[in-house]
Amino acid sequence: MKLNSPRGTTDIYGEDIDYRNYIINTARRIFEVFNYKEIITPVFEYTGVFSRSIGEGTDIVQKEMYTFQDKKGRSLTLRPEGTASVVRAVVENKSYFKNLPLKLFYIGNMFRYERPQKGRMREFWQIGIESIGADSTLMDTEVIWILNSLFEKLGFKKLVLKINSIGCDKCRKKFLLEFRKYIKPRLSKLCKDCQDRFEKNALRIFDCKKTSCKNIIEEAPSVISYLCPDCKENFEEILDCLKTLDINYRIDNKLVRGFDYYTGTIFEIISDDLKSEQNALGGGGRYNNLIKQLGGPDMAATGFAIGVDRIIMLMKQLNLGIKKQKSKRRIYIIKMDRGCRDYSLNILRYLRDMGIICDINFNSRSLKKEIKWAGDNDYDFVVIIGEDEVRTGSITIKDIEKFKQYKINWKKEKKKIKQIIGA
Ligand code: AMP
Repeated sequence: MKLNSPRGTTDIYGEDIDYRNYIINTARRIFEVFNYKEIITPVFEYTGVFSRSIGEGTDIVQKEMYTFQDKKGRSLTLRPEGTASVVRAVVENKSYFKNLPLKLFYIGNMFRYERPQKGRMREFWQIGIESIGADSTLMDTEVIWILNSLFEKLGFKKLVLKINSIGCDKCRKKFLLEFRKYIKPRLSKLCKDCQDRFEKNALRIFDCKKTSCKNIIEEAPSVISYLCPDCKENFEEILDCLKTLDINYRIDNKLVRGFDYYTGTIFEIISDDLKSEQNALGGGGRYNNLIKQLGGPDMAATGFAIGVDRIIMLMKQLNLGIKKQKSKRRIYIIKMDRGCRDYSLNILRYLRDMGIICDINFNSRSLKKEIKWAGDNDYDFVVIIGEDEVRTGSITIKDIEKFKQYKINWKKEKKKIKQIIGA
């Protein structure tokens, strides 16, 4: 039987690991500067954590969750996103998370049963932040600022930040009344799913990717026209702050994002260079009702999540290099035969204790083959240990690139090795 990785999943290795680490390290540095602390939550949660927060009527909850029963019949779900879990954790561990505002970040794999295609996986990685306990436009600004800084630091130049406000419950209620009036006579032209959405959760019609539905939505009223004075002022303040920080944005009045928990200002970062339908690199927004909904206090919050896999894809496509730190010199020890084992082990331990990257030959090949192997595998020096070296208490160091060779007395001159390799 052939055992492949499950459809929509992938192994990450080689160059992709370098990209991934680069993205994660860049994000970690920015989070540190903005004073965000890491949180790790379980990969699975009780299903209610997601269905109650993301919303029963959303595509994620209706079609995309990996839900299963454990041996005691409890319904569990592999996390499809990070916000619900973080909020659950904060509500549950309230004695720890009491100093507001709370600024948290996470890095984790997410699972959605979607039709896999370029940039859309069933297991994918997200980096996200959640900023809890500040109903301030400065906090909305900060969250967008971090998102913007991160993509700037990664070297992206042509991304588009789309922004919109879906208002508070009151504005949305008014809007939905008008929106339903607009949709009703056009209902038969919408796809089956959207007809369903019309009954259960009309805002979700905006998530539909089908051209026929998109065309109808294009002409529909926008929630922004129904914002109450407070929500309008709030949105304008955020836009003002973004201007102050020279962060470019594009107002997109049709942006709603596919989660029920959003309120107020929401945003998404897209790339026109990602030619596929999957052109969003990340997104987020305010979710002022969610904490209360999951049993916590009435507390405002905002955050975002970005997709690591898609960012790697685009960085490679755009030839955005990853800035490599000057690589450390690497040594490969070649012990010529069994008799050199203990002498070689002592040298290996000394070098590793000094923090020098080194390795030893595990196989026995000819000296010529070993030196070639070391060169092919990015080693800068080989240390040759044969009978003669053991007898005279010395080591032979060969600079692979410069074809230079040194012999040093191990007991008396071992410190010289740092000089030779330039460590
Ligand atoms: P969302 O949680 O849906 O707002 O997604 C945030 C980001 O995660 C998106 O902009 C994508 O970059 C990434 N993402 C979401 N779903 C997938 C998926 N199925 N495969 C790969 N990346 C994804």
